[in-house]
Amino acid sequence: MYDVLILGGGAAGFYAAIHIAEADPQLKVAIIERGKEGLGKVKVSGGGRCNVTHAEFDPRELVKNYPRGEKELLGPFHTYCSGDTVAFFEERGIALKIEPDGRMFPTTNSSQTIIDCLVSEIDRLGVKVLRNSSVTGFAKVFEDENQDSSIWSVETIRGAYNAKNLLVCTGSNPKIWEMLKKMGHTIVPPVPSLFTFNIKDDRISGISGVSTYARINIVSSKGHLDKFHAALKKYSLQLSDLETEGPLLITHWGMSGPGILRLSAWGALFLNELDYKFTIRVNWLPSYYEGSIINKLQQIKELEGKKTVLRTKCFDLPKRLWSSLVKASGITEADKWADITKVQLQDLAKELTECQFRVDGKSTFKEEFVTAGGIDLKEINFKTYESKLNPSLYFAGEIINVDAITGGFNFQNAWTGAYIAAQGIVKNTKS
Ligand SMILES: Cc1cc2nc3c(=O)[nH]c(=O)nc-3n(C[C@H](O)[C@H](O)[C@H](O)COP(=O)(O)OP(=O)(O)OC[C@H]3O[C@@H](n4cnc5c(N)ncnc54)[C@H](O)[C@@H]3O)c2cc1C
Repeated sequence: MYDVLILGGGAAGFYAAIHIAEADPQLKVAIIERGKEGLGKVKVSGGGRCNVTHAEFDPRELVKNYPRGEKELLGPFHTYCSGDTVAFFEERGIALKIEPDGRMFPTTNSSQTIIDCLVSEIDRLGVKVLRNSSVTGFAKVFEDENQDSSIWSVETIRGAYNAKNLLVCTGSNPKIWEMLKKMGHTIVPPVPSLFTFNIKDDRISGISGVSTYARINIVSSKGHLDKFHAALKKYSLQLSDLETEGPLLITHWGMSGPGILRLSAWGALFLNELDYKFTIRVNWLPSYYEGSIINKLQQIKELEGKKTVLRTKCFDLPKRLWSSLVKASGITEADKWADITKVQLQDLAKELTECQFRVDGKSTFKEEFVTAGGIDLKEINFKTYESKLNPSLYFAGEIINVDAITGGFNFQNAWTGAYIAAQGIVKNTKS
């Protein structure tokens, strides 16, 4: 009989096991993992570098990065925040560095450093890892006829185990969600989050690799109005929720970069409802709007009349993007500012600040992807991460309906949930 069985040896499972064993070395703890090693996502995370957390140490600011979980994570982050994660790794000799955008990585730039740290801690603390042991079912069983005390029975492809407490950290595994549904839990249907937009458009074909800071809005387009507004209503969204500013990267197949990924996370359910067919409006010069840019263009026309439009460097925009937008406004390579008509000037203003693109489908962002959806947050006590429906059943990590934008926030959800669940479980074993 185990005191605690942890289902799933990923980031949350390992982290929880370490904290349980540290808090009470007497407890008999094991991780049940379906794979050969576990920690598979840690290995590939952050393009192999593992973006462990984010240098945002204020819980009120940190929660703003979670489209699902913003409200519920505030309390947990007050208990265990990104600074605690940094301290955990530094106390174990793993130095982390902060990149200019706030993402934190091991200074070795290798996710293996994080894996080695977690595995050596598990070994030091004597936690058993039952590998190649896919869980096929689990249930509460009563020890006596009066049904006064119960334990958990877990079936795996290699045998069955019993435990007093169960912590489920199996990530986005639909089979485990199905089992939890049968135990009365509500599972918010999973949909992808953190994806890039597929766009075929002459204005961006041939300029892949160009990156610039932009404002991006998801907007409705002709012929799709009804569906668009119905989806807004369904998810209680305002148009302002579907706006973001950030770096935008033009790729071979469309658009990516932090700005696009942020929009994909905040709009995950809404865009799924639209079948990933929608229109975006890009303002390549967010400090201007259509009216103010016209005045600016007019001034340039008066001052630079003899110069060709294409070769004038008048805005902080990548050269290839400027050329493409100028051409899209019907201005030729030879046209000088003095030759530009009012209509061409208006068209250029539109291309610069209200540039619309039709998105048709999505692609996986290879550095990080997560699933929105999972166990309904209303059914979890966030002081302990215990199920409100099934005492002594706990959850942590991606299995719950929490997900974040890219930047190390998804792992922080796993570390925080695992730490708090560990404390809750240890307390439960003593009561
Ligand atoms: C390619 C990629 C890159 C990423 N990069 C980053 C990043 O740099 N920073 C960041 O913050 N987030 C990143 N993420 C997201 C992050 O990896 C997840 O949010 C995090 O791993 C969730 O941890 P978890 O322990 O909840 O789930 P997981 O890491 O998915 O672990 C679940 C574990 O449970 C096991 N399991 C599942 N079902 C069973 C079963 N039936 N029986 C036994 N075991 C089972 C799995 O094998 C797995 O080991 C990335 C995700 C991907 C896919």
